[in-house]
Amino acid sequence: MKKPKVYKNFINGEWVKSHTGETFQNINPANTDDVVGIFQQSDDQDVDAAISAAAEAYKSWRLYPAPKRGEILYRVAQRLLKDKEEISRDMTREMGKVLAETRGDTQEAIDMTYYMAGEGRRSFGQTTPSEMTNKFCMSIRQPLGVCGMITPWNFPIAIPSWKMTPALVLGNTVVIKPATYTPLSVVNLVKAFEEEGLPPGVVNLVSGSGSSVGQPLMTDKRVGCVSFTGSTDIGRKISEACSPDFKHCHLEMGGKNCIIIMDDADLDLALEGSLWGAFGTTGQRCTASSRLIIHKKVYNKFTKMLVERAKALKVGNGLEDGIEMGPAISESQMNSVLEYMRIGEKEDGAKLLCGGGRLTGGAYDKGWFTQPTIFGDVEPGMRIFKEEIFGSVTDCIPVNDFDQAIEFANDCAYGLSASIYTQDVNRAFTAMRDVYTGIFYVNAPTIGAETHMPFGGTKHTGNGHREACTQSLEVFSEWKSVYIDFSGTNQRAQIDNQ
Ligand code: NAP
Ligand code: MG
Repeated sequence: MKKPKVYKNFINGEWVKSHTGETFQNINPANTDDVVGIFQQSDDQDVDAAISAAAEAYKSWRLYPAPKRGEILYRVAQRLLKDKEEISRDMTREMGKVLAETRGDTQEAIDMTYYMAGEGRRSFGQTTPSEMTNKFCMSIRQPLGVCGMITPWNFPIAIPSWKMTPALVLGNTVVIKPATYTPLSVVNLVKAFEEEGLPPGVVNLVSGSGSSVGQPLMTDKRVGCVSFTGSTDIGRKISEACSPDFKHCHLEMGGKNCIIIMDDADLDLALEGSLWGAFGTTGQRCTASSRLIIHKKVYNKFTKMLVERAKALKVGNGLEDGIEMGPAISESQMNSVLEYMRIGEKEDGAKLLCGGGRLTGGAYDKGWFTQPTIFGDVEPGMRIFKEEIFGSVTDCIPVNDFDQAIEFANDCAYGLSASIYTQDVNRAFTAMRDVYTGIFYVNAPTIGAETHMPFGGTKHTGNGHREACTQSLEVFSEWKSVYIDFSGTNQRAQIDNQ
């Protein structure tokens, strides 16, 4: 087999080895014989070098005209489009989701980069009349400085692009730590920036573990903002690490999203949505449809339809044609999902309707494949109702009526995404208003975000910020209110002039 390529950190415009001299392997979860690449196992000294480079580069990058920053982003988007197929293949190899989905992930980064390129000529503030004659008021955005980014493996290029592009267009510089399972996708993104003329030090990439790279990145006083996507447990640590210095802290975390299927729903449509929402990306999406709340009148019919289709899903290597679901990201993630299958079987009253184990035999033995798994008669209070599983498992939850469906939907520690299938416009709008999440869909599953819409969630999913769209500009900038007095006199504001 070909010797795997060695990938380096990107610091101050150079690809460099970690000073530790240590590396780690990036393995294909669909075929563990396939080593995708060798990456740097960095530590706090590498992080220190990257932050120093970013702090130095910030001095000139913040003064670089924003439209010109946008032009670089525009060229990066074009390059990502040109290299889309290669980038997507790399991504399927490194994290397993099927090629159609990794193409979607890359496309999301392209869309986001084009969108933020436009902000180079917008980044609008406000102008407003003053209380006084011959005085002018405006608000302008100012960048924060060095922004630290810590990203997960399930959307390995889309999520880094959601964070990097708004930060950069506003004049911030970046140090990014990719997830250990997916550094190659971030290398591919950073290469596009390098090749399209981003000045040295403006973006820096340091690979390595959460504790040795993520930890020093979030605690360094020179970092003005930490943007994180990942689990709620790590997000809480990041929030605590940012609080002593009151750093901007942006957290996008877990989910336990539901689809409500009412008795008047188009069941065929709800079936397609539920399958896609539950088993797309092997259920490893923060927005995965992991709770299906189904009206009792259609419960038996719908679960039967769903089980039949779930059993027929083609699971395998995402690079092969016709495969609908790839592997779990890793052995430990697979084991955690298998453990939840056992927990589900032991829940009093829950019924295993299909799946429930690992897929073995032939090529399956080389990867971390789990069966599409559905539990029936799931109720609030059960662990599989409450906890994020992040794998190929979904729950069917019978409800008596619409009000109970809303109650169960909100009976959740997380608040990322929810949806309803119904033909009744009154119910659709009521659910839209009453389900407390950051994202809501009608007659579509809980997945399918678009980059020009704010992305994020309530409760334990987030800390009040939003990714993508113009809302993400709030994370990476501070407002400055500016008053210009051209009266030539010492005018007092209304509050000082009573
Ligand atoms: P994770 O374990 O929290 O890891 C996320 C990132 O944090 C990785 O880069 C990880 O590095 C790093 N990290 C781990 N421990 C750290 C520490 N002590 N200090 C600093 N950084 C640390 O999450 P994951 O398993 O990769 O991703 C799955 C989770 O992400 C799920 O809960 C999912 O819902 C959530 N997610 C949320 C969204 C959203 O937008 N709401 C989107 C996608 C995923 P290593 O890779 O080196 O461990
Ligand atoms: Mg990998």
